[in-house]
Amino acid sequence: MPTAEGLHALVRQARVPVWLPWPLPAGWLVSGFSGAGDERTGARACAMSLSGPNPLGGPADMLIVAEEPGVGLGAGLAGLPGPDPGDGFAASQPNAVVKVANHVAPLWLVESDGKAVFVGEVAANWLWLVLWPDTAGTLLVEPLPLRDLRDLREPAQEFDGPFGAPSTRLPLPSAGGTVPPLSGQAAGPAALARTGRATMAAVLIDLHVHSSASDGTDAPAEVARRAAAAGLGVIALTDHDTQAGVAPARAALPPGLALVPGMELSCQLDGRSVHLLCYLFDPADPALRAETARIRDDRVYRAMAMTQRLRELGADVSWEQVSAIAGDAVVGRPHLARALAASGAIADPGDAFTAEWIGDGGRAFVDRYAPGLASAVGLVRAAGGVPVLAHPRSPGYEVPDAVIAELAAAGLAGIEVFHPDHGRAERDRLTGLAGSLGLISTGGSDHHGTFLPGGPGASPAGHGLGGETTPPAEYERLLAVAGTRP
Ligand SMILES: [Zn+2]
Ligand SMILES: [Zn+2]
Repeated sequence: MPTAEGLHALVRQARVPVWLPWPLPAGWLVSGFSGAGDERTGARACAMSLSGPNPLGGPADMLIVAEEPGVGLGAGLAGLPGPDPGDGFAASQPNAVVKVANHVAPLWLVESDGKAVFVGEVAANWLWLVLWPDTAGTLLVEPLPLRDLRDLREPAQEFDGPFGAPSTRLPLPSAGGTVPPLSGQAAGPAALARTGRATMAAVLIDLHVHSSASDGTDAPAEVARRAAAAGLGVIALTDHDTQAGVAPARAALPPGLALVPGMELSCQLDGRSVHLLCYLFDPADPALRAETARIRDDRVYRAMAMTQRLRELGADVSWEQVSAIAGDAVVGRPHLARALAASGAIADPGDAFTAEWIGDGGRAFVDRYAPGLASAVGLVRAAGGVPVLAHPRSPGYEVPDAVIAELAAAGLAGIEVFHPDHGRAERDRLTGLAGSLGLISTGGSDHHGTFLPGGPGASPAGHGLGGETTPPAEYERLLAVAGTRP
């Protein structure tokens, strides 16, 4: 059993922080600690191991390592070739944060089999957090508060437990008051130099992508190819009201890319059009299939009716032309807009989305059937899927906080927080709202190929594949919801 005396001895010799999650997560115990260094240097690496319940069920282990650059304890655990994470590891969005005193420090995920490995830099030392099994990484969905035990050296403050059974996860023998020498590591400048290799690859996850199965410009197979070329690890195909692109995308899936089957359902809120992303539902579910077919059929009738009104307004467009432009895709207003531009009535397809033509409430606009949000959320959950509210702060698609709270009670699983239409302040507010309602925070580019959903005046920023992404820990949560019924 690890003892308080042994721990105090390590704390006195430590040149790097001796991190402890404090307050300890519920049910967690300290199962060991160790240090590495020599008589002259003191401990240049310290490891603390803990054991406790996995938030997703079963037992879990955690190891927290603080070390000077070049020591290589954490990198060895993560299976990296060099002693350090490598340059460029911090180039992407962080995947988790720890709270240290009044600061937060970002951490990035390192790919590793069977465990979740995070690394960041705190006060010029590496901070590694390793969790077994990998699902225990969900402990970092919330910022993890850490204390450096060296700040508690006064006898009255010293940490004295709780301690649990010794861990087998410690990379070095338990310190017990002595610091073992570093194995084969010189303390010179060469050992302190970074490896210079970008060995840290956080998985990039884009959960909102369209193909030509709806209003995107690229065929599903082309979307898959481009996503892999853009360095993405996971994409969700979320065409409007159809899954027709999923099979061809899957057939063309390049190695290293995972495909999440999804759909963006057209819904309504008080007569306004709003969108619901849904993932991993049973495609054979009869109720959801029937509702999706009803939405699609109505899109066709509506597109026909709008074509008729455009003709009445003097535009030289025909239904044959509109349906030829749509091809196999679910016909939508972008196809009408292209026909209208081809007729010469407008200069650019984006000019069609005004009160003059087919903008909401415009002269040639025709409303259509769409289910209410709460009813769609219920259908998706009943089909074993994960409903996520799409871009609730996009102009025209706003969903008020109070409605989001009601939807959460009705089974909504997440909010699309990271979307090109959302500004910094809106992201912060939505992240807070998602946290308070227990909802997942997802992100996606809403990529449509060369078509920009906001029209030609819209900014393409963020709409490239992977332009917005979902934090891996949130993606894990989404996978955990799939197949569960509320
Ligand atoms: Zn949308
Ligand atoms: Zn979309």
